[in-house]
Amino acid sequence: GNRSETLEFQAEARQLLQLMVHSIYSNKDVFLRELVSNASDALDKLRLESMVDKDLDADVSDLHVDIEVDRDARTLTVRDNGIGMSREDVVSLIGTIAKSGTAELLRKLRESKDAGASQELIGQFGVGFYATFMVADRVTLLTRRAGQSGGTRWESTGEGTYVVEAVDEAPQGTSVTVHLKPEDAEDNLHDYTSDRKIREIVKRYSDFIAWPIRMTVQRPGEDGATATETQTLNSMKALWARSRAEVDESEYHEFYKHVSHDWADPLETIHMRGEGTFEYDALLFLPSHAPLDLFSPQGRRGVQLYVKRVFIMDDCEALMPNYLRFVKGVVDAHDLSLNISREILQQDRQIRVVRRRLVKKVLSTVKEMRERDAERYLTFWREFGAVVKEGLVDDADNQSAILDVVSVASTHDPAELTTLAGYVERMKDGQEEIYYATGESRSMIENSPHMEAFQAKGYEVLLLTDPVDEVWVERVGQFDGRQLRSIAKGQVDLDTDEDKAKQETDRKEYAELLTWLGGALADQVKEVRLSSRLTTSPACVVGDAHDMTPTLEKMYRAMGH
Ligand code: ADP
Ligand code: MG
Repeated sequence: GNRSETLEFQAEARQLLQLMVHSIYSNKDVFLRELVSNASDALDKLRLESMVDKDLDADVSDLHVDIEVDRDARTLTVRDNGIGMSREDVVSLIGTIAKSGTAELLRKLRESKDAGASQELIGQFGVGFYATFMVADRVTLLTRRAGQSGGTRWESTGEGTYVVEAVDEAPQGTSVTVHLKPEDAEDNLHDYTSDRKIREIVKRYSDFIAWPIRMTVQRPGEDGATATETQTLNSMKALWARSRAEVDESEYHEFYKHVSHDWADPLETIHMRGEGTFEYDALLFLPSHAPLDLFSPQGRRGVQLYVKRVFIMDDCEALMPNYLRFVKGVVDAHDLSLNISREILQQDRQIRVVRRRLVKKVLSTVKEMRERDAERYLTFWREFGAVVKEGLVDDADNQSAILDVVSVASTHDPAELTTLAGYVERMKDGQEEIYYATGESRSMIENSPHMEAFQAKGYEVLLLTDPVDEVWVERVGQFDGRQLRSIAKGQVDLDTDEDKAKQETDRKEYAELLTWLGGALADQVKEVRLSSRLTTSPACVVGDAHDMTPTLEKMYRAMGH
């Protein structure tokens, strides 16, 4: 058969690799973090599979990661004895990028002229395995899927194609050999053949990895001879099981990067412990930027489930509602079965209790962040506000806690967002309702004729421009006992007694005209009336109080209703 094939990388993968080969990212050390992270994931997966499938023919007696350096050949190898990959796995997992948002990322990268911005984009995306091409001019991967007999060898220079080949003999798991670029050879900063350098990188980025990361080093022995010694480089302490006082911020941040596959630091760290009948540890993070797949139905969600330090599943939807899908981290539940399924989790009463606590904690963390550090909160809200507001529709139990962290644009200050409470504080004497307008953009709303009377009379109007806003204002209805009122609906009474007297005379004066207009437009409108809404426009069309707002109408029409 065709044992050795040369294949092309998928187009997006090729473009991303180009960027790596030319080292668009300045911190090259992270390639090792990515390899160790993948090795650790592979060990997690094998342990889980061997527990679930008792017939799996795999060796799980000494799961670990090995790092091996060959100074003469200038290679560095990261080896694990984990789950491994079949030939199909290698082609689909390494030859393509399945991550949604890749095309979007590449478009942004093409458009960004500035190197700093490009770095940041790459960092937000996280390039995983491809990071090896920052330091390598060739990468070789040898792998065997646990339980299968033959192995697969993969090799590439990162330039468009790769070679895959079947091999008869390969150890269980995966080894990745990085052939280091010659230009880094003389460079102390990037000497990836130095034991010291490797130890330092592993300590910095991967100390918490739950599996031993080993390296065999040369030591001066007795009588001037050299002896070899195998050392474990990491402390292997599960961060979430340690007390907060023992963990420093950089350790939390590196752990975040491992679980989230993000390269940027998180915005907030939440470390909590549940005691009592159902014990658990949770270590959660609020990222500093939205992933590109935040609004994609296939997007990755954030929380991993562990049971007594054993990895059980990624993307545990039972632990975090959809509107907090950007929260990343780990929940280690002590009293669950290792065989627990997603379906059972959804039904589990204890898990629901945990989920409720986690949600409350996340929301209160956001609230504290706003009180403590407004800048940081605003970063959060810009990135995730539109998603959090989905909770106002989906999660009735936490509606008021969510309303507490909502910020919206307003006519009060073009540069700043306001809280709903802030709006209420500024309400004019005699104003009873909270006025809002919805639309595609701030300027579109501001230029709509509906705004005129409100502006003329100095009433503040909330400017809502996210699609979800239409839905939550309807669902929530009121805040602090005050009705949320769309300025585009029904009769809005902004008038003083004097205004009203004038309107009475006007109504008499224009009665005939209004009757005539009403007749002439009978097919188009329900009623023609004089209005105090407008100051400069001659006329405008308004909906009934119970009609949909124009944006919602458009949204439903677009959805085919
Ligand atoms: P990510 O880890 O974010 O999924 P990577 O680019 O790091 O992305 O890896 C791509 C995929 O390749 C992984 O999801 C995994 O399925 C597979 N893979 C990479 N390294 C290994 C490994 N050492 N053992 C088994 N599978 C691996
Ligand atoms: Mg990875």
